[in-house]
This record gives sequence, C-alpha cells and structure tokens, in this order.
Amino acid sequence: MTPSETLHVLADVHANFEALNVVLDDLPDDDESQIICLGDIVGYGPDPDRCLEALTDRDALLLAGNHDAAACGEMSTKYFNRLASQAAKWTQDQLSENQLATLAGLPERQRKNGLGFYHGSPRQPLTEYITSEPLAADILDDVEESKVFVGHTHKPVYFEKDRATTRAHSIKGDKELDRVNPDTPMILNPGSVGQPRDGDPRASYMTVTFNNDYTLNFRWKRLKYPIEPVQSKIREAGLPETLATRLSRGQ
Ligand code: ZN
Repeated sequence: MTPSETLHVLADVHANFEALNVVLDDLPDDDESQIICLGDIVGYGPDPDRCLEALTDRDALLLAGNHDAAACGEMSTKYFNRLASQAAKWTQDQLSENQLATLAGLPERQRKNGLGFYHGSPRQPLTEYITSEPLAADILDDVEESKVFVGHTHKPVYFEKDRATTRAHSIKGDKELDRVNPDTPMILNPGSVGQPRDGDPRASYMTVTFNNDYTLNFRWKRLKYPIEPVQSKIREAGLPETLATRLSRGQ
C-alpha cells in the first residue's frame, strides 16, 4: 500500500445487510481503497449469508470475531448469553458449508502498514473488551504496533497515550482527527455497522488516510439506514424480539 491510499475500517456488522449496504455504498469502489472488517460479520441479525457475500464481493480483508467463530463451531457458545447462543445456532443453519469454512478460516489478527487489527484486543483477539483507560494503557505498553484497531464493544472511541497518561475519547457523531503522528500510541474503535450500542442507531465506520508526510487522518462517520425492514426480518426468522427493538435505540 502506498502512502496516499485509504483504509475503510468496519466492525460488528452482525448480519445487518441494510446497514452494511448503506456503508458499502458510501465507500469508493476503486483500487485506491481497501475495506477491512474487524469481525462479527454474522450473529444477531437476519442476513448472515448476504453480509458475508457483500464483503467478499468488495475484496474486504476479514478478521474473525467471537460470533463468527461461534457460528462455524470454532468457539463454544457456553460463555454466550441466551440471546447470543440462540442467534449463533440460527446463523449456522443459514450458512452453506463453504461459508462456514470461510468463517472458520478467518485470521484473528491482521497487520497493514504498521497498523494492527483485531476484533477484541491484541492479547485476546476474540474475547477481550477494551473499555477502560487502565486496560488500554496496559495493552499499549505490550503491543508492538503504535496504532491498534479493535471492535467488539460496538462503541466508537479512541484511546491515546501521552507520556504516562492514557485517555479515552468517545466519538459522538462524525469526527475527524487530522495529521496524527504515526508514533503516538493509540487504540481506535470504528463503532458498529449493524448493532451500535452508544445510543445512536446509525451505522458507524471509520476511514484511515495515509498522508505523504506519514501522518494519518482518521474520520468516523455515521449513516442512517432503514431499520424497520431489518426488524421485520428478525421477527420473521423467529430470532429474539430484543434483537429487533435494540436496533432503534442503538443499544
Ligand atoms: Zn459484536
């Protein structure tokens, strides 16, 4: 990847095709930009097969999330709550052998241009939630990359380390950070495409631009998508009602 290229970082699609479609439509389909999805492509939502197909069609780099691993049987659902394990079983039945094999083969980590990509965290890629400043500080002390991208919490945020202090910055709505020093230790979360949990129901994703002077631009973006059709499909599929109602609250 040359310095002027862009990287679109998506996470936690959760089989919400309407949300994914709006995000993919917002991204240029050219050789200059690469899509990377930090896992949980499936689980909870009604369109696991279409979501997997849409991302593959756009040549997205895919990582494994805990819900992807559970749906294909790579991970036990014994630590899942009732909703999640019910949805994982349902999801498994919707996918072809080929699609299950694709999920089973997804990597738990990716590295690109010195940036690190994981679903949960570098030390526990599938399961750890980075939710606090002390935890983020610990992880930034251990990890090799200065920029770490994670999903899993479904909340857009970045943690930045300045000397001994690590601070969390929650992202509300659209946000741009320009000309960020590539050496500053940071953990960045794009938020969730298909099941946001920060009180804003709109789909969330972020874009990374590599400037010629090696600084980086980060842009978080929120997009409205048609929620009702997704809710109808969740009900028709017989998935738990909560999975439908939470989408309109963004929780
Ligand atoms: Zn998730």
